[in-house]
Amino acid sequence: MSTAARQQPVSGAPPRSERSGLGNSLRLVTIGGIDVAVHVSWLVIFGLVTWSLATGYFPQIVPESTATQDWILGGIAALLLFASVLLHELAHSFVAKARGLDVRSITLFIFGGVSNLAGEAKKPGVEFQIAIVGPLTSFVIAAVAFAIAVASEGAPMIGAVATYVAVINGLLGVFNLVPGFPLDGGRVLRSIVWSATGNLRRATELAAGSGQVVAWLMMLWGFWRVLNGDVLAGIWIAAIGWFLQNAAQTSLQQTVLETHLRRLRVADVIRPDSTAASPSTTVAEVIEQFVLPGARRAVPVVDGGRPVGIVTLSDLRDVPLEARESTPVSQIMAGPDALVTVTPVTPLRTAVEALAEGEFDQLPVVDEGRLVGLVTRGDVMRLLQIREALDLDGRDR
Ligand SMILES: [Zn+2]
Repeated sequence: MSTAARQQPVSGAPPRSERSGLGNSLRLVTIGGIDVAVHVSWLVIFGLVTWSLATGYFPQIVPESTATQDWILGGIAALLLFASVLLHELAHSFVAKARGLDVRSITLFIFGGVSNLAGEAKKPGVEFQIAIVGPLTSFVIAAVAFAIAVASEGAPMIGAVATYVAVINGLLGVFNLVPGFPLDGGRVLRSIVWSATGNLRRATELAAGSGQVVAWLMMLWGFWRVLNGDVLAGIWIAAIGWFLQNAAQTSLQQTVLETHLRRLRVADVIRPDSTAASPSTTVAEVIEQFVLPGARRAVPVVDGGRPVGIVTLSDLRDVPLEARESTPVSQIMAGPDALVTVTPVTPLRTAVEALAEGEFDQLPVVDEGRLVGLVTRGDVMRLLQIREALDLDGRDR
């Protein structure tokens, strides 16, 4: 059940996937420049699928097989399911690449795959193509498997595996076409509304709203099946619904964030503060004179008016008490090489990307070589919340 939920664009840094909730994954191979990884949860699914096929499906469909054969067939079928989901995701990724988007990795996890695209399609037509090719791929695999199943009359084991692959890919294709964002069908719906209205945000709200309706229906259906004694299938369906509901909500929040960020620059959120230490200031002095009075979490270090580094609360904390009087900040600061600065006219989105990429809490703002203030993660979030509360970036613009 692949959902192709794209990760939020935060440019650069490959380790980002580890930070975005998709940690605990094992890298398998690189295909066409795309890293393919499996989330550890997939190993559990692999075991469950193999088990349910070996004890349920194969004994029923191929009664003449031995238990060992059933387990081998179960394992093969589970691997083919894995390959099917991978092909579905690769199709998304290759079309995205062909349309100029950067694709870094595919992670196969508990409910399917996630293609880690850097950024979203800039045009509705491109989004449509990237989304639709996944289900189409699943349908093509289903058709090929079905043909094999029909042709394998004298080989019931091959026939049983091929039938399973055909059915599961048919289901994958259909499920992904359900018009709820961030499923492929939701992306198709979004691209159509986006193309018709020219308004990405409204299109996302609509598609995510329908995604949430689908998600709640799935959860209800799952509970209904549990109540009717079909516990495993019920929990399974409800879990997918719950996952979808989260994904729809997150996608919507990300789009809302993007809408706001697109209109702002660093100057809109700058904390005008040119207080700075000099490289020879000691750690004790920085704490006494700069950190405590303004409750600052970071202090820029300036040499002759020029920013040369930044020292943060955690840098200061790491210096043992007895050494604080004698250690100059130049020894512990993130120096010029590691110093990332922005200017007042830098788009806020670029600043947010830099904050996320470096896992910084703040960046010094420099204007014509001179330190003019800081932009902090907390200030950015507060500003965005206020703008959203006041509806300043209105839905219809
Ligand atoms: Zn897909």
